[in-house]
Amino acid sequence: MADIVLTTLNAKYIHAAFGLRYLLANLGELKPRACLLEFDINQRPLDIVEVLLARNPKIIGFGVYIWNVEPTTEVIAAIKRVRPDIKIILGGPEVSYETEEQGIVRLADHVITGEADLKFAEVCRVLLAPVGDEVTSLHSNSEFGIRSLEFQNETPHVVSYPKIIPAELPEFSQLVLPYNLYTDDDIAHRIIYVEASRGCPFTCEFCLSSLDIPVRQAPLPVLLEQLQRLLNRGVKQFKFVDRTFNLNIAVSKTILEFFLERYQPGLFFHFEMIPDRLPESLREIIAKFPPGTLQFEVGIQTFNEEVSHLISRRQNYERLADNFHFLRDETGVHIHADLIVGLPGETVESFASGFDRLIALGPQEIQVGILKRLRGTPIIRHDAKWQMVYSPHPPYEILQNKLINFATMQKLRRFARYWDLVGNTGNFIETTPLIWGDASPFDSFLRFSEWLYRRTKRTDSIALVRLMELLFEFLTGELQLDRKPVAETLWRDYQHGGHHDKPGLLREFLPTNKTVIPLRKAEAALPKRQARHLV
Ligand code: SF4
Repeated sequence: MADIVLTTLNAKYIHAAFGLRYLLANLGELKPRACLLEFDINQRPLDIVEVLLARNPKIIGFGVYIWNVEPTTEVIAAIKRVRPDIKIILGGPEVSYETEEQGIVRLADHVITGEADLKFAEVCRVLLAPVGDEVTSLHSNSEFGIRSLEFQNETPHVVSYPKIIPAELPEFSQLVLPYNLYTDDDIAHRIIYVEASRGCPFTCEFCLSSLDIPVRQAPLPVLLEQLQRLLNRGVKQFKFVDRTFNLNIAVSKTILEFFLERYQPGLFFHFEMIPDRLPESLREIIAKFPPGTLQFEVGIQTFNEEVSHLISRRQNYERLADNFHFLRDETGVHIHADLIVGLPGETVESFASGFDRLIALGPQEIQVGILKRLRGTPIIRHDAKWQMVYSPHPPYEILQNKLINFATMQKLRRFARYWDLVGNTGNFIETTPLIWGDASPFDSFLRFSEWLYRRTKRTDSIALVRLMELLFEFLTGELQLDRKPVAETLWRDYQHGGHHDKPGLLREFLPTNKTVIPLRKAEAALPKRQARHLV
C-alpha cells in the first residue's frame, strides 16, 4: 500500500525513469508513504491500471512524455472511471505547454508544469493534509480543485492552487540527488542516467531545451561523491542527460578526469556535446580515454547556414569540422551525430549535401531525425510562411512543408529508418560504403532505400540475415558489383558482429576453413552497437 504512487510508462524497460526518482527523493517526510512503479509502453493499459490500483493510492503522479502520452491517457481514463476519488497529478515536458488543448490534462486533477522536483511534494502535502469540516466546505465553494493549509499565528487559512500549477525553477542546492534510488536490479539491467547540469543557453527553435534557461550546475563535490557510490555499486554505463555537457569546460574536464582516474574495462559514458566547442584542455583528456569508452551525441541538425539562422541556431561549421577530425583521428570516441529532415528552408538538395558532408566527417552513427513539433517550441512561428504541416498525433512529426511534399517526406522517413538499420547498427561497417562507392552517399542510399522498400514493403522486422541477402542482391544485381568481394565483405561484417555461422547465400563464395574474428575483451564489455563500430 502507498498513499502516493509515482509512475510512468518508459519507452523501453532499460530506460529507468530519472525524473520520477528526483520527485521521490525530494518528498521529504512523505517519502515513506510513497512508491515508484515503472511500466513500459508495450504493456496493456488495463494491466497497468490493475497494478496501480492494487497499491490503493490517494495520489498518482504520472510522468508524461511524447512517447507515452497516448497509452498514459488510456490508463488515466480507466482509473478515473473505476476510482474517481484518486487524485491524478501530471508532470513532464509533454504537459508543460499548451495544456488547454490536451485530453490527458482534462482527465487529470492537477498538472505541474516545469521542473516538479519540489512542487510535487508541496502539492502532495496539501492533498494529504487532514482537513476539518469547516475547511472542506470552504474548499467545496472554491473554484479551485486544491487547497493548502498554512498556519499563521496558529490560525489555519486556505491557499488554493489552480489546476495548472507552474513550478518555480529549483536550484540544485535545494534538491536531494536521487542516485541511491537506483536499485541493484536497475544497476544490473538498465541505463543509469545522471546529470551535471540542467538547461541550455542556446535557442534552437525546434528544441524544448531552448526554453530551459538559465543553466544550473549540480554542486560538483556532491555529484562526484554520488558518482563514486554508483561506481562502487558496479555501474558500468553512465548516460549524462545534460543538454550541453561541454558548456562549462572546467566542470566537464573535472568529471572526465574523475572517470579517467577510475577507468576499468567495460566502463562507458555518454554525453551530449556542442560540436564546435572542444578547447585544447578538453581535447587532452578526451584523447586519453580508451577506444569505445566515450560516446558523444552531437547535434548538427543542418549544414545549411540559412536554415540555421532561420531556426536561431548558432553553429561554427569550421570549428565543428576541425573537432570531428580531431575526434576521429586522435581519439576513440564514438560519435553519434544528429541531422533533421524537414526544417523550414531546407530543401532535399540542401539536406542531401549536408548528409554527404557529414559522411565525409566520419561519425560512427548519423541519426536522421524527422522534425517534430514539440509542444511549446517556437518553431511554430514558421508554420504559415513555410507551410509546415505536422501530424496531430505524437510524436507530431512533419508530414510536408513548402519545399518537401508528403510523398518525398515519406521517402526520407524510410531513408532514416533504413539508415538506422544498415548504417548505424554497426552490422555493415564495411559493406555500407559499397552502396555509394565514389558517388553521393545520400543519392545512392536513397536509391537503395527505395529499392529495399519495393522489395520488402516494410521498414521494420527485417532479420539480419535477410537484410544481408537483400544487400547482396542490391549490390550485385542493381549495382553490378562482383559477387565474391561483396560476399567476403558481408562475411567480415557478419563475423565482426560476433556471428560464426555462415549464412547460406555466402557459402559458395567463402573458404571452407572457419576464420573467426573475435571481439577483443574490452570491446566485448561495451554496448553491442558501439562495440561493432570498433573495427
Ligand atoms: S538543440 Fe541542443 S543546443 Fe539547441 S537548444 Fe536544444 S539542447 Fe540546446
